Amino acid sequence: MRHISSLLIHGSGETSSTPHRSLKTPIYETASFDFESAEDAEKSFMGLNDSHAYSRISNPTVTELQERLKLFSGAEQVLCVASGMAAISNVFITLCKSGDNIITSRYLFGNTYSFFARTLNSFGIEARFTDFENLEVLEKNIDGNTRAIFVELPTNPQLILFDIEGIAKIAKEKNVVLVVDNTVLTPYLFPCSEHGVDIEIFSNTKFVSGGATSIGGSILVYKSDKWTANPKLQPEVEKFGTDAFFKRLFKEIYRNIGACLSPNNAYLQLLGLETITLRIDKIVDNSTKVAQYLLEHPKVKAVKYAALPHDPDYERAQQLTGGRPGCLVGVELQDREQCFRFMNALKMIRRGTNFCDNKSMIIHPSSTIYWDFSPEEKAKMRISEGLLRLSVGLEHIDDILADLDQALNLA
Ligand SMILES: *Cc1c(COP(=O)(O)O)cnc(C)c1O
Repeated sequence: MRHISSLLIHGSGETSSTPHRSLKTPIYETASFDFESAEDAEKSFMGLNDSHAYSRISNPTVTELQERLKLFSGAEQVLCVASGMAAISNVFITLCKSGDNIITSRYLFGNTYSFFARTLNSFGIEARFTDFENLEVLEKNIDGNTRAIFVELPTNPQLILFDIEGIAKIAKEKNVVLVVDNTVLTPYLFPCSEHGVDIEIFSNTKFVSGGATSIGGSILVYKSDKWTANPKLQPEVEKFGTDAFFKRLFKEIYRNIGACLSPNNAYLQLLGLETITLRIDKIVDNSTKVAQYLLEHPKVKAVKYAALPHDPDYERAQQLTGGRPGCLVGVELQDREQCFRFMNALKMIRRGTNFCDNKSMIIHPSSTIYWDFSPEEKAKMRISEGLLRLSVGLEHIDDILADLDQALNLA
């Protein structure tokens, strides 16, 4: 088997099957497709052939992105959708019905938190926000109606790496589906296939698109028989066995929700995927250098980056990511005023909310992403007034360090 960087560039490598032997995947910008015969149309609707009928259900450009992501991750099945949030909502609407619950941590991407706490809640599905740093607490929260454990790795912006091996062990013992949001690390830095994960999701908007060219999301399903324990999936378990989750997702939920990925965005994300390993290698290298530089700066109170030997998650980062914990660096300054002075003095690094981008970007979480949380809520979520989240990009390391240096001197 070739290396991942080669596989992502060539895909299956069969240009003979593409029209005109085009070397790039064409953008099939069409809503519907012509059937050869009435019989062919019937077969297509019954799912008995892989011809395309309608782009809300499948589209050749999107299918090619899904095939590449299978190579990238080792997942059994991949479904690409309109956004990272669409990936999360499709997964939980497939797994849960009214009266069910899921277990997750308090430290979550803001919209994911809102989806669990408000949207799912209003349909009678309870999210139990528990302490993932104490696995006994996590285990105690599981009951007969628990359908999934959801983990972000690492948490953002706290950048905690949970004990995913311990969590996977509990999920296995209790026969509960383990869902991981792997947006920050991707299968390249954290291979879910090796850690007992049943469903992986990520936002294609971040590392896959690369330059933040487009919004998209992916659902990656690994081999699992935990679906048998889920009452909602029983009809599919009887008919399709270990394919039960994917069948329910694809044949009902995904079609009915309608959050499909556009062919144009799939094309942009295919382009991004070709260079993802190269970009991540460089970005992790830059991030490590930036974290080391910040650690030694007298104006910086603390740095959180799990590749630094002093970091409490250092061992875990070595074990889970080979010492390459991604592009996010937590920087603690004195207070909000100093953070603002520092941010305003930056000349190249952008003030922006995206991350895993080609461009370096910084944000003050307390006054932006968490602006409407009370001081008590922020304290619980470890969002301090002096915390900045820096997403290190692909620029030359000398330029990143020079910009940080001149801005810190003015802060
Ligand atoms: C961005 C992000 C999402 C949501 O992705 P979108 O593509 O913006 O919908 C979910 N989880 C994490 C960790 C993210 O960073």
